[in-house]
Amino acid sequence: VDNMKASTEFSDQCHQLIRIGHDFWNRGWSRGTSSNYSCVVGHSRETILITASGLDKGALTGDGFALLNRDGVPLDASQPRSSAETALHVWAIDNGAGSVLHTHSVWATILSQKFLVQRGIWFESLEMLKGFEGITTHASRMWLPIFENSQDIEALSRQVNAYWKSNHGKTLTPAFLIAGHGTYAWGSDIETATRHLEVIEFLLECTARSMTLR
Ligand SMILES: [Zn+2]
Repeated sequence: VDNMKASTEFSDQCHQLIRIGHDFWNRGWSRGTSSNYSCVVGHSRETILITASGLDKGALTGDGFALLNRDGVPLDASQPRSSAETALHVWAIDNGAGSVLHTHSVWATILSQKFLVQRGIWFESLEMLKGFEGITTHASRMWLPIFENSQDIEALSRQVNAYWKSNHGKTLTPAFLIAGHGTYAWGSDIETATRHLEVIEFLLECTARSMTLR
């Protein structure tokens, strides 16, 4: 663990996630010690760097992280405890993500409840869709799935996994919502995951504000 912490990549990634914490706190996406952020460390992808549980993301420091193996188990017992939601980070990383960002924004909280009955939200014909990796035209139609909230995160991650394996022919966003709770977004690295989360939050705000105009 100490060798890992001495590496430049590790400290760069720590600094990026600390900056994200401060930024997301300022945007109101990570208030009240909510949210957790992770990324894979090293080319072997064998280690996960993740925020420790219950910290103020607006005041995150280098001590606020844990290192886990790919099963989500801490590399050593002396580290701070990682979030109860670690299993969802491990699921996304198992499916190719290099970084996973989980936030509790106001729009995600409201819209995930409002649209739970239809189990997701369609986004279409919006220029901002091009912010998702691999999307090259606004003339795209993407589905943001919504899952019911649960304190049984292992069961929830099995549910998410089953959903992604049989996506019902929809083009899915690299993100999902948990009802009354928040957003999970991911990408190949921290920058891409951040862009994906920003796009989701932008699209959620568009959806909510356009409803108030009707
Ligand atoms: Zn959460």
